[in-house]
Amino acid sequence: MSREQKFCGWGEPGAGPELPGHAAGELRDRLGVPGEVVSSPVSLAEVRLRAPVVAAGLRAALERAAGAEWVRDDREIRVLRAAGKSYLDLLALRAGECEDAPDVVVAPASHEQVAAVLHACAEHGAAVIPFGGGTSVVGGVAPLRGRFETAVCLDLGRLDAVLDVDERSRLARVGAGLRLPELDHALATHGLRLGHVPQSYEWATVGGCAATRSAGQASTGFGRFEELVAAVRCATPAGELATLGAAAARSDETGAPVVGRFSFIGAPASAAGPDLRALVLGSEGVLGAITELVLRVRPVAAERRYEAWMLRSFDAGCEALRALAQAEVAPDVARLSDEDETRTTFAFAGDAGLARRVSGAALRALRYRPGCLLIAGWEGEAADIARRRAPAVRLLRSVDALPLGRGPGEAWRAARFAGPHLRDALLDRGVLVETLETAATWSGLVALHASVREALARALAARPAVVGCHASHLYPDGASLYFTVLARQDADDPAGQWRAAKRAAGDAIVAADATITHHHAVGRDHARWLPREIGPLGIDVLRAAKQACDPAGIMNPGKLLPDE
Ligand SMILES: Cc1cc2nc3c(=O)[nH]c(=O)nc-3n(C[C@H](O)[C@H](O)[C@H](O)COP(=O)(O)OP(=O)(O)OC[C@H]3O[C@@H](n4cnc5c(N)ncnc54)[C@H](O)[C@@H]3O)c2cc1C
Repeated sequence: MSREQKFCGWGEPGAGPELPGHAAGELRDRLGVPGEVVSSPVSLAEVRLRAPVVAAGLRAALERAAGAEWVRDDREIRVLRAAGKSYLDLLALRAGECEDAPDVVVAPASHEQVAAVLHACAEHGAAVIPFGGGTSVVGGVAPLRGRFETAVCLDLGRLDAVLDVDERSRLARVGAGLRLPELDHALATHGLRLGHVPQSYEWATVGGCAATRSAGQASTGFGRFEELVAAVRCATPAGELATLGAAAARSDETGAPVVGRFSFIGAPASAAGPDLRALVLGSEGVLGAITELVLRVRPVAAERRYEAWMLRSFDAGCEALRALAQAEVAPDVARLSDEDETRTTFAFAGDAGLARRVSGAALRALRYRPGCLLIAGWEGEAADIARRRAPAVRLLRSVDALPLGRGPGEAWRAARFAGPHLRDALLDRGVLVETLETAATWSGLVALHASVREALARALAARPAVVGCHASHLYPDGASLYFTVLARQDADDPAGQWRAAKRAAGDAIVAADATITHHHAVGRDHARWLPREIGPLGIDVLRAAKQACDPAGIMNPGKLLPDE
C-alpha cells in the first residue's frame, strides 16, 4: 500500500503531462466542445458511501489472518479500492457515486496469510475481490457482492518481494502484488528486465497481468504476459493450486515458505497433462488469488531504436504488417494507426512538434501524401537490432512506405504513458474518451476494422465523434485492433451514451467472429459475450473448475463467467 493513485483519475496527484494548448482547437473543431474545463470531480469527502457491513466474527478472523492494522474500512481506502480505471469507473467516481465500495480492505503479506483470509471469508460468507494495481478497464475489480452481504477487497500490494533470481536460467520468482516498474528496477541490479510494458505499466502488478493475460506494447517481439510466466502459485478457498513444482510450495519446519534460494524445480516445458498454469492465467480472480509467479526475464536492452513510417492506407499497412509477421522480421513494437488516429496523433503533436521531429523533406512529402502512421521499435544489442531491422526496412521500402525517421518514433516512446493522464484533462472538458480492443485473423482484420468503426459511428451519431484505431500485437495469423473513441459527452446521460456504443461495438466484434478481448480481459463488462466465444461446454468447464477451487462461490462474483 505504498504508492496510491488519485481516486478518480490516473496517477498520483499532479503527475503526468498537461493537455497541449493547441489540442483545445482540435477539440473545438472536431467535437464541438469548448476546449476549456467544464466539469471537475467531487472531493474525497463528498463521495457517497454506504456504512460498511462487516460481521464481528469476520473482522476478527481477518485481523488474525493479516494483522489488525492491515484490515481497514476507512473512507479513503474503501474509495481507492472501489473501482478500476475505465471511462465508466471514472465517470461514477468523479460524480461521487461509490455506494458499492468494498466494506473492508484486507492486505495480507504472504501466501499463507492470503490463504487464511480466503478461509475466513469462506467460513463467514463474504465475497472476495482480488485487487492488484486496480487498472482494470472491464469492471474486473468492481466490488460486486453476488449473493453475499459483505464485499472484502483482497489487496495484494504487500506481496511485493522479489523472492529469487536465477540469472543462469533467466528466471525470477516474485510476489504477485509487485508493480511492473518496481520489478524492472529490482531486476536491473542483475542486468535483467521483464520487458512487459502495457500502457498501464506505471501501476499494473504482475499478478494482475497474469490474471488478465495482459499484452504489453512490445508483445510482438517479447510475447504476451502468459508467455513470460513459467509457473504460478495460487491460493484458492479449497487449497493451493501451484504449478511451481513441489519445492516451491515447500515450507520449512515452522511452516514458513522457503525463501532465499531458488526453490523452483520447474522445467521449461512439460507434457504432464493439461497445462494448469493456463487455467490460472486469465482466471481473473474467480478461482483464487495468485500469490507468486516465476517469470522469464531477459537482459536489459543495450540499445533502443524507435522510428516512424507512413503507409499509403490502413489496408496497405495491414498487408505490410502481415508480411513482416509472416516473414518473422516484425519489429518488437509494431503499431499502425488508421487514417483517423494518424490525423489525431499529428494534431495533438501540433505543427511545431511535428516540425521538430520530422525532417523538412519528409514533412514536405507528408503534405502531398497523407496516410497511416507506423511506429516500429527494436530493443536489444546494437548488432542484433541492425540484423533484425535490415529485412524489415527492405520490406517496408518495397511497399512504398515513407520513412519519417527516428524523431516521431522516439517521441512516441517518450509519450507512451501520457494517454491516461490526458484522459483526465479530456474528461474535465466534457469529452467522452474510451478505448476498446479485439483481435482477428489477417483474413478478417480489415473488415473487422470497418464494421466496428461503423457500429461505433452509428451508436454515437447524435454528437460529434472521432473513432481512431491502430493495429498492433502481430502474430503470423493475425493482429489486434485497438480503438480510441473521442466524442462530445452527452451531459444528461454520459454513462448511457458509452454503454450503447460499447454494446454496439461488442456485438459487431462477435458478429465478425473476432475475440471480445485481446488483452483487457473479460471482467464484468465482457461476460455477456464470453459464451459466444467459448461455447456452453466451455462455460461449464470453467464453472466446474470454479466449483472445485471455490465451492462457496466467494471469489470475484460476477466476473468472467456470465450470471446463471
Ligand atoms: C490506461 C490503461 C492502459 C492499459 N493498457 C493496457 C495494455 O497496454 N495492455 C494490457 O494488457 N492491458 C492494459 N490495460 C488493462 C490493465 O492494465 C491490465 O488488465 C492489467 O493486467 C491489470 O493489472 P492490475 O494489477 O492493475 O490488475 P487489477 O486491475 O487489480 O485486476 C484485474 C483483474 O485481475 C484480478 N486480479 C488482480 N490481481 C490478482 C491476483 N494476484 N490473483 C488473482 N486475481 C487477480 C482482479 O480481481 C481483476 O479481475 C490498461 C488499463 C488502463 C487503465
